[in-house]
Amino acid sequence: MPSLRRSYRVTVPEDPPVTAFPFLRQDLRRKTSTMLVSTFVGFLINQAKNSKSAQALLGLKNLGNTCFMNSILQCLSNTQSLRDYCLNNSYRRELNSSSRGNGTLMEEFARLIQRLWTSSGSDAVGPSEFKTQIQKYAPRFVGYNQQDAQEFLRFLLDGLHNEVNRVTVRPRGHAEDLDHLPDDEKGKRMWNRYLEREDSKIVDLFVGQLKSSLTCCQCGYCSTVFDPFWDLSLPIAKKGHGEVSLMDCMRLFTKEDVLDGDEKPTCYRCKARRKCTKKFTIQRFPKILVLHLKRFSEARIRTSKLSTFVSFPLKELDLREFASENSTNAVYNLYAVSNHSGTTMGGHYTAYCRNPPSGEWYTFNDSRVTPMSSSQVRGSDAYVLFYELATSSRM
Ligand SMILES: [Zn+2]
Repeated sequence: MPSLRRSYRVTVPEDPPVTAFPFLRQDLRRKTSTMLVSTFVGFLINQAKNSKSAQALLGLKNLGNTCFMNSILQCLSNTQSLRDYCLNNSYRRELNSSSRGNGTLMEEFARLIQRLWTSSGSDAVGPSEFKTQIQKYAPRFVGYNQQDAQEFLRFLLDGLHNEVNRVTVRPRGHAEDLDHLPDDEKGKRMWNRYLEREDSKIVDLFVGQLKSSLTCCQCGYCSTVFDPFWDLSLPIAKKGHGEVSLMDCMRLFTKEDVLDGDEKPTCYRCKARRKCTKKFTIQRFPKILVLHLKRFSEARIRTSKLSTFVSFPLKELDLREFASENSTNAVYNLYAVSNHSGTTMGGHYTAYCRNPPSGEWYTFNDSRVTPMSSSQVRGSDAYVLFYELATSSRM
């Protein structure tokens, strides 16, 4: 199938042979030899590229209530740029040895992705080594309790980011006030300040920037704040009748909010606490947009779940109306969904993912992987949606 060859290219990095650096410390040598092993993996990928095993249609074993983890891992495994970052070993050049986990979480994550994409045969992959690493990073994942998939995603991306952060020494805080600048310029400066501290492949892909505008109801003064976001948690819009759409949820999320009573902020111009309006717009759209539907009353202590059917487009989700400025880069295509079925107490997670080489959709239910029709992707179990910025709008 020549289409597979075109759709994903794996480059093998040029690693120095171990013998070329006899002076390297033992631990570095060990690292270099694992690099040679992974070069071999790269070779295998090239070999397996045209076979079915290179399509990562392998399931993940459930280690005991770990479907939340499996569901997210499959969504990330089908995130093409992240997958390639793992498969072509470019993450190795960016491993940050001063990070808390010493790179072990990223290594184990990449190893898991490599196993999913290069294992021959059809046996489900066991993620226990990966689980060991994630629970070292985030002890709340110790044990075998059901967890929230979106929370897990945040912890995982944060952990991976820290281990491949290109920033090793964070600069001191800036004293310069940016409030005199036009909003657009202030947003750019704030983004650059963020990158001075947090800059990684994970940030390149997943992080966007949100603008919140606070307007004083007394004097009309508007102050703006820019914050990076890793995903957007959308409240589920409620309608008396008719279907609820993702756009309804986005509109509810960005709807102007009144801050009054105890919530009154201090107005910069009035120098007093004033009733204000607050509104979100998207200043910078990320390449990968993760949308979390707030189905649960609270992520940690779940008391209720909304099983409202929210319709969402698979193609051309146009978010331009939510942009701070006129933006053309805001059209997205769906490629993965993490689903939650059942109630708050006993639920189950699965994933629907569009396979990058073939473009076909599959259901990943722990160790089982089955083909599905794209018309089945929308459902009332949809919980976390993964959208990719359309290539044509990335110009
Ligand atoms: Zn004011």
